[in-house]
Amino acid sequence: GHPRPPVEPLAPRDVFIAVKTTRKFHRARLDLLLETWISRHKEMTFIFTDGDDEVLARHTGNVVNTNCSAAHSRQALSCKMAVEYDRFIESGRKWFCHVDDDNYVNLQALLRLLASYRHSQDVYLGKPSLDRPIQATERVSENTVRPVHFWFATGGAGFCISRGLALKMSPWARGHFMSTAERIRLPDDCTIGYIVETLLGVPLIRSGLFHSHLENLQQVPTSELHEQVTLSYGTFENKQNTVHVKGPFSVDADPSRFRSVHCNLYPDTPWCPHTAH
Ligand code: UDP
Ligand code: MN
Repeated sequence: GHPRPPVEPLAPRDVFIAVKTTRKFHRARLDLLLETWISRHKEMTFIFTDGDDEVLARHTGNVVNTNCSAAHSRQALSCKMAVEYDRFIESGRKWFCHVDDDNYVNLQALLRLLASYRHSQDVYLGKPSLDRPIQATERVSENTVRPVHFWFATGGAGFCISRGLALKMSPWARGHFMSTAERIRLPDDCTIGYIVETLLGVPLIRSGLFHSHLENLQQVPTSELHEQVTLSYGTFENKQNTVHVKGPFSVDADPSRFRSVHCNLYPDTPWCPHTAH
């Protein structure tokens, strides 16, 4: 589609990007992000993890040890989302964005997208991973349940929420996110969709510019890579799933393709190969 015109000027400091990670992925995943997209605007990005790491602390002061469990359980993950939300509210910034530690964020494209909405309005932006609303059972009281269905933006593709909407979420999110998640017994990203769509009646705005490894990333057109807000890498239907980008690094040297994407976006990066003239 056509890019939307800007309605509100935005500076990097207006945006709070929460990166969810876990101790065992600091070297395996996070270092790559620190060398690539995070290095360009460290003041935008906050790392939410579950264990101390001096190497990481030397890279950036924006590390939050959530003290959540390092298990991949529903509770541990919504514990992290609860801390992300609280820290965003305290930050006073205009936009909250959540990404995983296997996402590349194109900061310029993100700022362009967010600047086309007003942060004071109700905005929930992202990409659903399902082709229909998720069905859940909401526990209303001790022995009453009701069926609910709602859309949610998949956390693995990244999503953003305006400050106006985030403030309206506070009765269910601020200090209560984990108990809200227990009401539907679904993961953290579903709980966000439940609060926004079901409890507040605000619809998810779909954006094709967010990408998770649950979709075939080879299908992102190479000519449009620089316009995408998030990318990812991983496996999909048991095959390696990455975006298609020619170079400058080989697939062996850069299996995620993030270094190549980064050098195409920021050719002045010192470690990017420079062609002699
Ligand atoms: N993660 C976490 N705790 C864990 C395992 C994973 O916080 O015990 C985070 C991980 O760092 C990533 C996200 O959860 O940001 C999704 O994990 P992963 O990509 O491994 O799994 P997926 O859900 O994409 O298959
Ligand atoms: Mn993942």
